[in-house]
Amino acid sequence: SSRQPKYKRILLKLSGEALMGTEAFGIDPKVLDRMSLEIGQLVGIGVQVGLVIGGGNLFRGAALHSAGMDRVTGDHMGMLATVMNALAMRDSLERSNIQTRVMSAITMEGVTEHYDRRKALRYLGGGDVVIFSAGTGNPFFTTDTAACLRAIEVDADVVLKATKVDGVYNADPMKDPDAVRFDRLSYDQVLDLKLEVMDLTAICLIRDHQMPLRVFNMNKPGALLNAVVGSAEGTLIEG
Ligand code: UDP
Repeated sequence: SSRQPKYKRILLKLSGEALMGTEAFGIDPKVLDRMSLEIGQLVGIGVQVGLVIGGGNLFRGAALHSAGMDRVTGDHMGMLATVMNALAMRDSLERSNIQTRVMSAITMEGVTEHYDRRKALRYLGGGDVVIFSAGTGNPFFTTDTAACLRAIEVDADVVLKATKVDGVYNADPMKDPDAVRFDRLSYDQVLDLKLEVMDLTAICLIRDHQMPLRVFNMNKPGALLNAVVGSAEGTLIEG
């Protein structure tokens, strides 16, 4: 049927800001519950789901640094923020009866499991949602890069990046009414046109490993499922 998933295993990247909803800071539990519902639909049709959540709703290293803080300390705080988001997401997913594991790139015994690729593969294979938290565990990286790295490590079929707009445009669609959306792009086009899709580290990583990326609008109900069953949704970057 048309509801057959086209991917066996996906890596979904949610920004921290996506969890804020209409709040100015922090987490909106209503948004978490809506996302859990949508993620549950994927699990329900047999898709294995890895999740990377950002931390920008709480702390960003670069922003703390501009306010005078040591950059590495700020990045450590940013990574800890992603763990808080991951715990909130797990809570919401488990209340929806979706078995969820949180792994952290920074050891936090008693709170999360430490990231272990082989364990993650077993959990994913068993149908559990796995949330990869604390980014890459290193300062000066982003959770976009962490999402691409984990996707490659666990051999996901695609990275799905949830944003506030329906894909990648040639200009900011919030500011420019003539902005045009791309259906498809190559990695080199993203780099040559300097399109702000993800940071360069992330783009170069997926280009080197030929990991496809789809950018789509998660605020649109049903868009996640559409992206997974193959209906055109957002912008596909590959090749
Ligand atoms: N961060 C980091 N290393 C990583 C991932 C994240 O140091 O591998 C820090 C960095 O300070 C970043 C913050 O965590 O600003 C939150 O992550 P990000 O900005 O990627 O979150 P998002 O924009 O997706 O909400």
